[in-house]
Amino acid sequence: LPTPSPDTVHYRALDGAHHIHPFSDMGALNRMGSRVITKAQGVYLWDSDGHRLIDGMAGLWCVNVGYGRKELAEAAYRQMCELSYYNTFFKTTHPSVAELSALLAQLAGPPFTHFFYCTSGSEANDTVLRIVYRYWATQGQPQKKYVISRKNGYHGSTIAGATLGGMAYMHEQMPSKVEHIVHIDQPYFFAEAEPGMTPDAFGLERARQLEAKILELGPENVAAFIGEPFQGAGGVIFPPSTYWPEIERICRRYDVLLVADEVIGGFGRTGKWFAHRHFGFKPDLMALAKGITSGYVPLGAVAICERVAQAIVEHGEFNHGMTYSGHPVATAVALANLALMREEAIVERVKDDTGPYFQFRLREAFEGHPIVGEIAGVGLVAGLQLAREPRSRTRFENGAEVAGICRDLCFSGNLIMRASGDRMLLAPPLVISKPEIDELVAKAKQAIDATA
Ligand code: PLP
Repeated sequence: LPTPSPDTVHYRALDGAHHIHPFSDMGALNRMGSRVITKAQGVYLWDSDGHRLIDGMAGLWCVNVGYGRKELAEAAYRQMCELSYYNTFFKTTHPSVAELSALLAQLAGPPFTHFFYCTSGSEANDTVLRIVYRYWATQGQPQKKYVISRKNGYHGSTIAGATLGGMAYMHEQMPSKVEHIVHIDQPYFFAEAEPGMTPDAFGLERARQLEAKILELGPENVAAFIGEPFQGAGGVIFPPSTYWPEIERICRRYDVLLVADEVIGGFGRTGKWFAHRHFGFKPDLMALAKGITSGYVPLGAVAICERVAQAIVEHGEFNHGMTYSGHPVATAVALANLALMREEAIVERVKDDTGPYFQFRLREAFEGHPIVGEIAGVGLVAGLQLAREPRSRTRFENGAEVAGICRDLCFSGNLIMRASGDRMLLAPPLVISKPEIDELVAKAKQAIDATA
């Protein structure tokens, strides 16, 4: 890269000296120097050296309405002037949290009637656990406390979120975890299906691991199952279509609450308001965050079905909450964000127009590519499986390294594309236009060709 500007040198020095970045090798980062992002508009970011990058990841899967929307900034400003902060702990509420709850009930539809707020996806999943434990206690079944999740699932980075998640590299740095959380295998066909097995058979086999685990633990001890409708951080892994209906059948049979972690999938990513609708199942609880405010301010929420909500409402105090639960500025921005999504029919556009176009362009570019073994996705999310021999589903021995090289090539080519294991991920802002999709796919192709 050319000589960095004085601004770049200045901010890199301050940052390197005083800031620990999330999920980063700080030693390596400080030797290289961070890229300083100074502004953003639509689907583009600019760095302090004047380069324009196209954001293929909507920030961290969150900037659904694109950057720089004045409507959201104005909503935050108005709310800060009117009521900058108040909580809903002490027999009080405020207009934007009440309105947001009613709107979310409408968007989520039955069985969801109530919402609990927090500030992130991790906290939403911590809250899921608190609600699940509380629910079973109110039902006279406090022994129902096992929660089953999946290897290579991602549910956040707090102790509870990371325990729920199945990321081995996170567990390795956590000598102590939340008790009674157990993991089953993920529905990752490309990497884990036996040769000759069909996707449908594999989907059923992986779902039935849930049944086996419930029977092993005793159904009377199992509180909930949690999964992302499609695994996001784990590699945009789409389960076979047999998977979720079977999971739902098993949860109903053994009276186990079904929790969809919609932190990435929620708010339009798949061309539906919530990703579970794409897979055809109905959860009891949903963890929400990210797209709820398009990432303009932090907000997380748990959507609660009527049966669970009523139990909580009718059984006295629920001892859970955070200072910023239902923060007025966050809920006002969420309302402005959702209003904009509805006015501009953004979810419908993803479903009928830009989503199909994006998926078509990706398949046109990468089907038959020498190192791409699978193109997974729907709407505006995709995972490209890198492989040494795509046809025989043979992976690279050093797949994460290959994907890392590819990600770095994207980055130097001014495209943000993320790598997870040996998969390359895309999830652009939902307002991306067709010419911008062309640019995104062309840049991704350039990088993947160069990696090959
Ligand atoms: N759940 C899922 C599915 C996620 O992808 C994430 C973050 O990427 C989280 C939970 C955690 O959200 P946060 O980073 O806001 O805590």
